[in-house]
Amino acid sequence: MQLADRMRTLGTETAFEVLARARALEAKGRQIIHLEIGEPDFDTPGNITQAGIEALKQGYTHYGPAAGLPELREAIAARIERTRRLPIDPGRIVVTPGAKPIMFFTILAVVNPGDEVIYPDPGFPIYESMVGFAGGVKRPIPLREERGFRLDVNELADLVNERTRLIILNSPHNPTGSVLTRADVAAIADVVGDSQVLVLSDEIYSEIMYGSEHVSIASFPGMLDRTILLDGFSKTYAMTGWRLGYGVFPEWLAPFVAKLQVNATSCTASFTQRAGVEALTGPQDGAQAMLAEFRRRRDVIVRGLNEIPGVSCLTPEGAFYVFPNIKRTGKSSQEVADLLLHEGGVGSLPGTSFGAGGQGYLRFSYANSVENIRMALERMAETLSAIRT
Ligand code: PLP
Repeated sequence: MQLADRMRTLGTETAFEVLARARALEAKGRQIIHLEIGEPDFDTPGNITQAGIEALKQGYTHYGPAAGLPELREAIAARIERTRRLPIDPGRIVVTPGAKPIMFFTILAVVNPGDEVIYPDPGFPIYESMVGFAGGVKRPIPLREERGFRLDVNELADLVNERTRLIILNSPHNPTGSVLTRADVAAIADVVGDSQVLVLSDEIYSEIMYGSEHVSIASFPGMLDRTILLDGFSKTYAMTGWRLGYGVFPEWLAPFVAKLQVNATSCTASFTQRAGVEALTGPQDGAQAMLAEFRRRRDVIVRGLNEIPGVSCLTPEGAFYVFPNIKRTGKSSQEVADLLLHEGGVGSLPGTSFGAGGQGYLRFSYANSVENIRMALERMAETLSAIRT
């Protein structure tokens, strides 16, 4: 078998591998509590599913425009205007099967071999994977617990140079749940200034926040033309399997991204996009109920983790992840994650799945019931106390 050389540069997302290992244990009769995978455990709200069914019946079963259905792009533009106070021409929007292709297409479209890309460490693993795949130079920026896992803008300024092509931001952040403040984002916009640097702003968790303000760098003067704003439906509307996301691009870039889409997928499924219109324009109570439940779970898991000897955990301001510090156990992230899975029957991800900066941490997704979260906390306390004795 002769693979192309570039395949050696491609990384992956280990969450899916851990899920497969957990399922293999379940097949042998073990009972596993799944806190490893980053998807809401709720069903898609009924009005959205119904709109998808209606669309199928109405014949939305054909190819559509590469950049997305006009009615969905308009609804997205209206949502961006409302949430970011940013009037957007729908021509800047490209709809994709999930938001992940926005990373793939953006990085392929703008990063030349040798160009430097700055991305958060810990951070969503696909950023690093795609930078390597495109031949870019990886410039991870550490997110430290002492700063609440928000990047240090002075450190960012030191990393930026004439070879920097792209800065990737993610707020609210996976895996730590941190949120950049308005002052942070303003300072980052200043660092970009009028350079040639572009920003990929991953805002997929922008509607899963617990009180702080979501600030998009695209809304700062001059930044709309330098920012690729990534968002989607998977998290806010529990629509992971529908595969629906989008990017808002600088005007010059949108047609090239649509061209990548023609080459890769032709277009996003038409009936899925019709369901997306309902998600954005229909009643929002389903999404609001999920958010309230996520907050309740967050409070339970943070309190519970901080009660376990050897573990400490900051309170995340967004997304549905916690990133507890397990350094005092004296074991690596991988060792603790393995012990938890095999001894405790609890699925988690080692912090190192998100970069070297994740050593000493675990990531739990609290997209599971309060009852299961409580049971997972008990099992974790037992497993860790066995290490100490
Ligand atoms: N960005 C971040 C930070 C994520 O955590 C995820 C999913 O886990 C995505 C983007 C992609 O979401 P999707 O492709 O399901 O829309």
